[in-house]
Amino acid sequence: MNLKTDIQFLKGVGEKKAHILNQELNLYTVEDLLYFFPTKHIDKSKIYQISDIHSSISSAIQIKGRISNVALIGMGRSQRLTAKLSDHTGSIELIWFKAIKWIKKNINIGEEYLIFGKPSLFNGKFSITHPEIEKNTSVNNQQQGIFPQYSVPEKLKTKFISSKVIQKLTQTIFENSISIPDYLPQEIINNYKLLSLDKSLKNLHYPESESLKQQAEYRIKFDELFLIQLKLLLQKEIRKTNYQGHIFSKVGNFFNTYYSDCLPFQLTEAQKRVIKEIRFDLNTGKQMNRLLQGDVGSGKTLVALFSMLIAIDNGFQAAIMAPTEILASQHFESLNSDLKKIGLTVQLLTGSTKKSLKTKILEDLKSGKVNIIIGTHALIEDTVIFKNLGLVVIDEQHRFGVAQRAKFWGKNKIPPHVLIMTATPIPRTLSMTLYGDLDISIIDELPPGRKPIKTIHIYENQQAKLNKFMREQIALGRQIYVVYPLIKESEKLDFKALEEGFWQLNDDFPAPQYAISIVHGKVKAKDKEIEMQKFIKGQTNIMVATTVIEVGVNIPNASVMVIESAERFGLSQLHQLRGRVGRGAEQSYCILRTSYKLSKESRTRIEAMVDSSDGFKLAEIDMQLRGPGSIEGTLQSGVPLDFKMANLASDQNILQTARNAVENLLKEDPLLNKEIHQKIKIVLKSKYSSKINWSRIG
Ligand code: ADP
Ligand code: MG
Repeated sequence: MNLKTDIQFLKGVGEKKAHILNQELNLYTVEDLLYFFPTKHIDKSKIYQISDIHSSISSAIQIKGRISNVALIGMGRSQRLTAKLSDHTGSIELIWFKAIKWIKKNINIGEEYLIFGKPSLFNGKFSITHPEIEKNTSVNNQQQGIFPQYSVPEKLKTKFISSKVIQKLTQTIFENSISIPDYLPQEIINNYKLLSLDKSLKNLHYPESESLKQQAEYRIKFDELFLIQLKLLLQKEIRKTNYQGHIFSKVGNFFNTYYSDCLPFQLTEAQKRVIKEIRFDLNTGKQMNRLLQGDVGSGKTLVALFSMLIAIDNGFQAAIMAPTEILASQHFESLNSDLKKIGLTVQLLTGSTKKSLKTKILEDLKSGKVNIIIGTHALIEDTVIFKNLGLVVIDEQHRFGVAQRAKFWGKNKIPPHVLIMTATPIPRTLSMTLYGDLDISIIDELPPGRKPIKTIHIYENQQAKLNKFMREQIALGRQIYVVYPLIKESEKLDFKALEEGFWQLNDDFPAPQYAISIVHGKVKAKDKEIEMQKFIKGQTNIMVATTVIEVGVNIPNASVMVIESAERFGLSQLHQLRGRVGRGAEQSYCILRTSYKLSKESRTRIEAMVDSSDGFKLAEIDMQLRGPGSIEGTLQSGVPLDFKMANLASDQNILQTARNAVENLLKEDPLLNKEIHQKIKIVLKSKYSSKINWSRIG
């Protein structure tokens, strides 16, 4: 038997069962089985006495006792069944939320049972939720020891494949003293103090001690994170080896003139640093793929502009692509007049550009007359041909997929440099993984003189107070956003709340003294645009909206953001929304309105918002609260975050260690050509075969 042995040849499996295991659990080989980790262990080495239960028991244990006090509690979803289990040393509560009927029918009061489960401490008392329960008679002649429990779908149990069946298989494998060679070189194992793969797999299924089990978990997490980082950094290495980049060797007149004549303020240190990083990239002869992260209002546009001016100074064209027409026109308006002054031609191209103008713009792009083109998706249409596109800036990137990025590449023989900007801060560890193949620049400083936004938490019954505040602000000439959640799952209810809120506001802020705009998903794109424009021009005082206004819009006079049902938004969304205000010279406010009853998690989120205006810090908290999979931008990224063991929120240290290991490895052997690294390459290939262009590796 070896790792590649087909499971159908294992004792007790056969063709039929093997087929089911293939289909349902994706298990084909002995190796697959070894990586099918148990979800928990049952300590059958002894039967605990109830008085011996203590809080450091971390796995399921056995207890023998008699059942009494069976009771149904609660109604509907929160209904549960409880029972008391007693031995001669004490008693403990058992709780079931599922299969209540079945359990109730099948347990007999007064009879002795053997139960398995993990005790947990609640309000000073131990209880066990969903224990497994068997009549004591049927389990008397069981094996002793610590046993792995595997999660097997109900469906398979009817086909005679239970956790026990899998357990027998893994037991057989280890009894056959299977050889598990390590693919990592001894040097890495030593340097990072890893348990050997062989020992790790064994201890994950059959732990010799708690400490070895933990070391085993560390090893598997390390492997998972090591491999994903290796994949990403290798991809980057391959790209750098294979793709040339335009060489922008100089900073010339346009850059210098703009810097000295058009810049009304000093660049922040962070802006200067990032511009330097970009300048360096643009001169290496390799294609730049850089992600620029910076909180809302941190001044990313200027960084983009100076990067584009470098492209133009070296004889190339540049493009900015924004996710919406509004954002594209805002960029156009803020950049055009100054750029015109220094002699550059800038054009705006969106879906609603008139046909005749569009034809002209396309011509001028092709001839090179247009230096900078600003637009939306319209820029990646096939009809858009550049004379020599040198740099593409993609704003608010989470709206753009990789495929769209690649489309720009097709526009030239040598791909343009790419600068991706995002105002959605994500934790560093997450960006290391999501954007591991990009270089990352961070603007971690706001321009000086900004007044911090005051964030205030109020409850839903404080309408009168809120109205008073809003009237005062409007009297001062400010504009106000009122944002409602609109979540797919409860769309109807949400929509009702939005409409009712709108009518309430119409009563409280009547025309003609006040004007209110409303924008949401059901409003036609054209009307949305009209309402947005009215608000931008200051013709309406209040903008009632769903999160459609979230991205990028810059309306300096809007200085109050009221977020209704704020407890229902994620932290990064709340932070994004808050970023819509605080753009002018006036004091800005963000008012988070919630119901009285808040879950612990919601309260943590609201408190975090009140306490901090640091997007990176909030993103970190968000990831700790909700896990990495739910952080904005992760889903679209296409990077698999579903590790079997590792968790990007709780295993940040391991990720950093694995990343260092990969960096050191690639420093020594950039394309993994050395003999001792061939095994790593094979593992990587089998794991990510479709996703790396291996033909390009020597
Ligand atoms: P974002 O990073 O959110 O895209 P912007 O580039 O739109 O931010 O900049 C926000 C505002 O800050 C703009 O009005 C811009 O002119 C201003 N700004 C940018 N850099 C500086 C600076 N160094 N000093 C002062 N104001 C700046
Ligand atoms: Mg911006």
